[in-house]
Amino acid sequence: MDISSYRTEIANLIRQINREKETYSKNTIALCDKLEKYGQMQDDDALTGYACFVRGEYYYRKNDVLGFYREMLKCMEPFERIGEWGYLAMADNMLGIMSLNRGNAPFALDYYYRAQSICKQYSLPDIEWVLQMNMGALFLSVGSAGEAIEHYEAAYKYIIDHKDDIPEFIESFTAAAVGLGRSYLMNKDMADADKYESIIEVQCTPFLSKDEEINVYCFLARYYYIKKEPDEKERAVKKVVEAFSSDIAILDFFDDLYDFLSLLLETGDYTTFASLLVPIKAMAQKTSVKNIEQKLLHLMIEFFKSVGDKDSYKEAAVHYYENERMMSHENDLMIKSMIKLRENLYRLAEENSYIAAKSRSLERKSETDPLTSMYNRFRLNSEGDVIYQRGLKNHVGIAVEMLDVDFFKEYNDHYGHQAGDRVIKYIADCIKKLQDNLNIFAARYGGDEFVLIYEGYTEKEVFSLAKDLKKIINDGHVVHEYSRTNSKFITISQGIFWGIPEEGRSIWQFLHQADGLLYKVKTKSRNSIMVGHLPIYSSGNYDDTEGVLVTEMEDDS
Ligand code: GH3
Ligand code: MG
Repeated sequence: MDISSYRTEIANLIRQINREKETYSKNTIALCDKLEKYGQMQDDDALTGYACFVRGEYYYRKNDVLGFYREMLKCMEPFERIGEWGYLAMADNMLGIMSLNRGNAPFALDYYYRAQSICKQYSLPDIEWVLQMNMGALFLSVGSAGEAIEHYEAAYKYIIDHKDDIPEFIESFTAAAVGLGRSYLMNKDMADADKYESIIEVQCTPFLSKDEEINVYCFLARYYYIKKEPDEKERAVKKVVEAFSSDIAILDFFDDLYDFLSLLLETGDYTTFASLLVPIKAMAQKTSVKNIEQKLLHLMIEFFKSVGDKDSYKEAAVHYYENERMMSHENDLMIKSMIKLRENLYRLAEENSYIAAKSRSLERKSETDPLTSMYNRFRLNSEGDVIYQRGLKNHVGIAVEMLDVDFFKEYNDHYGHQAGDRVIKYIADCIKKLQDNLNIFAARYGGDEFVLIYEGYTEKEVFSLAKDLKKIINDGHVVHEYSRTNSKFITISQGIFWGIPEEGRSIWQFLHQADGLLYKVKTKSRNSIMVGHLPIYSSGNYDDTEGVLVTEMEDDS
């Protein structure tokens, strides 16, 4: 959120909201409501979108599904209108996490893919790597190790390549390495699993916080179990138990703990299982994420079955069934939000194809010529009119020059098209040198033709400048053996029409006259200049075909 463009009152409000984001108290909502009002009053999508987005984040933290979906979907429209792609990708990412927490992997995948395509389209690599991590976790949770590896590898590489830019480097690095270790383990690729185990042991374990210890040692317990190293497995189990406390971020580490509890069941370590189950269950209930509760109930049912506790088994089964019903209600809400999102997506796709068509047409009209970086004919159209109108207003003379390379076809034929391109660039560079004189506009008209417009010069001055240009070009001594002019170097022909703009005439008449004069040069000689004006301006050699008085002529041919 760029605060600098807002007046103090709004800027302070945004600052206050950003401070609130550290704790997300109830006050956050009131501040966001206020910001949204400003947004509506001033018709400012950035403010409205941001207010909804932060409210969405608030509900996300509070695990309020309804509030979260409502606000996140609400922020999308204003953000789409102003192209705030970063926030849109972040909103989709959170919608994905929320869906996955609620056991809806297909929805989560859809949100993640949408976020990823936004990141790719608008180049947001600093958000994309987070998505790669989340997609890795998603595929891992549904048992698709191959896909998980792809995503985790991409994230891992980004994290390493941007070591200094990632604020929580060691945490992110550890999470990616553990994700990869787990994925390779699931894929039964032991060589790569070993590789990441040793990376984790050497590079991560010395720096772990309590939360990360859970992440790392849950993996290591599974790893050593598969490697059939019981002592090492036990060491890892103990580490998890030691690191476990009631203030870990249960939602972030639930998959790790779930796998760990499953491992305890598989290995018959019922004591440790029972000791951890109670606090984990209490924490899961606090989150009110039904899917997590369900997964724990599933483990409990297995556990009660294994230890032969029939009553508890039945109780857990009933509880499981009731939860299932509630979850189906939550799912309905998610489906509704998904339908709305699909509609938005469809609309966005339509808008995008409109934008693509528009940008293609803009490209066509783009104002520079790619070969010479000079203005092209389109810019000449607009600039020519502007110069003419200015000349009309200020009563100053303007002149249009058309110049064309002599026997350029021959040059291309003998030296090749690439060499021909270099000549065109050379001519453009010479023209740019002439433009060091003030008020000369130049454009590549097409092929080997260029147009110059001189503004505020007398006819004589223009003639002198045209001769300067000719000299600059000749001084380069670009060999053209096949030129049929009197020179064996690259030369140009120049036709120039000078006049003081008048009402009822246009720059196009100047251009047309200049073209006529160029034609005369070409047919008469080449490698020379013809300057002319209409008879009303001064006397000279009357030319009856064009009605132009040719006042200056330099003929070197
Ligand atoms: P003259 O001007 O003296 O009448 O003869 P010319 O050979 O220059 O004839 P004309 O101006 O009609 O032909 C220009 C040639 O320029 C035709 C085309 O092959 C070539 N040409 C046009 N655009 C380019 C370009 O971008 N690169 C190259 N290398 N050649 C081009
Ligand atoms: Mg030519």
